[in-house]
Amino acid sequence: MAQSAGSATALMAACVLRQGGLLIVQMVKQVLKQARNSLFAAIALMKIKLKSSPSLVILTYHRILPGQSPLRQTEQPGMIATPEALDMHISLLKQLGAEFVSLDAWLDAQRQKKTLPRLAVAVTFDDGWQDNYEHAFPVLKKHKVPATIFLVSKRINTPWQFWPEQVLDLLISHAHHLDHDALQWLRPYLGDRPTSKQSASPYTILQADSVINRLKALDDHTIETNLERTRNELPALSQADLNARPLLNKQELDAMLASGLITFGAHTRHHYRLNHLGNPSDLENEIAGSRTDLEELDLKPVNIFCYPNGDITGKGEQLVQSHFIAACTTERGWNKTPINPFSLRRFNFHDGNGSTPLSFLASLGRP
Ligand SMILES: [Zn+2]
Repeated sequence: MAQSAGSATALMAACVLRQGGLLIVQMVKQVLKQARNSLFAAIALMKIKLKSSPSLVILTYHRILPGQSPLRQTEQPGMIATPEALDMHISLLKQLGAEFVSLDAWLDAQRQKKTLPRLAVAVTFDDGWQDNYEHAFPVLKKHKVPATIFLVSKRINTPWQFWPEQVLDLLISHAHHLDHDALQWLRPYLGDRPTSKQSASPYTILQADSVINRLKALDDHTIETNLERTRNELPALSQADLNARPLLNKQELDAMLASGLITFGAHTRHHYRLNHLGNPSDLENEIAGSRTDLEELDLKPVNIFCYPNGDITGKGEQLVQSHFIAACTTERGWNKTPINPFSLRRFNFHDGNGSTPLSFLASLGRP
């Protein structure tokens, strides 16, 4: 008895020591992260203050959602920033002397060899989410800051959900269906998690995020077709909130265009990643077609293209260059003049890298 009490005490002591050790490791990691962020933020401040030749920094966002929005439950973490963070980014850069410009106007000025601001900042939003109107537009109006929104032309005025959000919803709200035959196509991408009935608990956002990244091995059309077939065979998956409309509608687009602050760019017709489109006519359809669609919707001028997922191919690039005057990539970095307008680098901001002034500046200073 005394011996077992002794070994229980030793076990408890070992547990406490182990927990203490883990806590110290976590604290050290935190301190190192702070030190790294401080260093990169200092580099960003030096770049902002000391640069002599004109530079262009492009800030990119996808969704702008308040911290308490239920829509955050079914979205990838790298897609969301809060309206407060957007407000802070603009205020901070203005205080540091940056001039906010419309990307179209800046490119025009470069083309015409006009004098460019020493530090110009352009704001862009990808995909055309409804929350851009609801939560970002008021912040842009408050600061009189122009922005470009890249639209997926065939999804305007539709209740369309992009496939990553459909997959997130499936894994988080319908994981108990994963053993159904209709979801057999998805199993190779689920990773290590067993899919037996007993363990079909909801995925965490991070687990679902990994599944989405693995699924990118397939082309978008195949994923969408599989999802559609799955929904037909498993109607329980389609009980989505009918009031939810993820993307901007025409009325919202018109209101933003009329403000004079917002310009629109093309982000393909269906958000298909170009490196998965083997057929030249499909490429042409997605690239040139998206511009035609937006112009027919009277959302002119549509001068800039944005590559879905940043995926570029030689043929796609040629087509973009013959139909647009510039293109945004997902390459990170500052744009130094003279800039190749078809390789515009951007900084993508979300909760994870822009929720505090320190993390925001560190992202701008990181090599
Ligand atoms: Zn996109």
